[in-house]
Amino acid sequence: MKFVLKLMAGAAVIVSLHSVAHAKDLVVGVSWSNFQEERWKTDEAAIKAALEASGDKYISADAQSSAAKQLTDVESLIAQGANAIIVLAQDSEAIGPAIEKAAAEGIPVVGYDRLIENPSAFYITFDNKEVGRMQAREVFKVKPEGNYVFIKGSSSDPNADFLFAGQQEVLKEAVDAGKIKNVGEAYTDGWKPENAQKNMEQFLTANDNKVDAVVASNDGTAGGAIAALAAQGLAGSVPVSGQDADHAALNRVALGTQTVSVWKDSRDLGKRAAEIAAELASGKTMDEIEGVTTFNGGPKGVEMKSVFLAPVPITKDNLNVVIEAGWIPKETACQGV
Ligand code: BGC
Repeated sequence: MKFVLKLMAGAAVIVSLHSVAHAKDLVVGVSWSNFQEERWKTDEAAIKAALEASGDKYISADAQSSAAKQLTDVESLIAQGANAIIVLAQDSEAIGPAIEKAAAEGIPVVGYDRLIENPSAFYITFDNKEVGRMQAREVFKVKPEGNYVFIKGSSSDPNADFLFAGQQEVLKEAVDAGKIKNVGEAYTDGWKPENAQKNMEQFLTANDNKVDAVVASNDGTAGGAIAALAAQGLAGSVPVSGQDADHAALNRVALGTQTVSVWKDSRDLGKRAAEIAAELASGKTMDEIEGVTTFNGGPKGVEMKSVFLAPVPITKDNLNVVIEAGWIPKETACQGV
């Protein structure tokens, strides 16, 4: 390396401009909340691949669902020399001090998938409100009236409320007209399928099994809700939504026990996040990021620089989309059909 630099001493300015453009040799640290859902390993692979392609280094930490561990994880990524940090927050509030620490050290932060409402963090995600609309729309197509149950996400994840807001928006007219009745609504602690199942069991009991539709906020919670429905012989006759295009969920869509899974191609999200992290670490400003928009729809209304990707609803009618995109093999999606 020294030898090369000696040879190129006369071209010092060109060398430094070059490194800005190609963002080489940067260290990008990713702080994961956990790997509970299938998708996060796909996100991780995409981030790794993008950094490998640009000649940058991937380091990471898994908070294993602990908001406290995630704080020390971010500190340790900083201590390991991260030039930029990507954070999938376990708890959008509790992560605050870690973001402040990175900002104080001039290390760019990318809030990944889940909002971290601090303007020093860039925000990249799918349009979560739109995901919620898609979930409700597909369920509503099957059951335009009746008793609805809402299996929401984790209360420490702002996505839970964005999704619910989108769901409510779509159903509002029918609710106001008295066609749809909300007979149960609960957050799912930690997005855990078993908690979703317990909540669903309680809603079924409380309503003498008279539940006509279930708007579940992701595929994990949909799986829990469907297990509870199945125990009452109701799986397949009650529409259920989800998101993430988990392989098991796509198979349920093919089998008819789940109505829709909203597909968010996390290969794209991971790639874009890695690129943005490297660009910010190389001196680009947030305003110079391609496709940047301003978002202020969080609970505190903070203005955030953001990039949004578009989700796609997958039902029995368009399963070919995820198969053709190489997301899932046909025999996996259609197993047992
Ligand atoms: C993500 C979903 C995911 C859920 C649980 C949400 O913030 O947007 O894709 O299923 O977290 O990990």
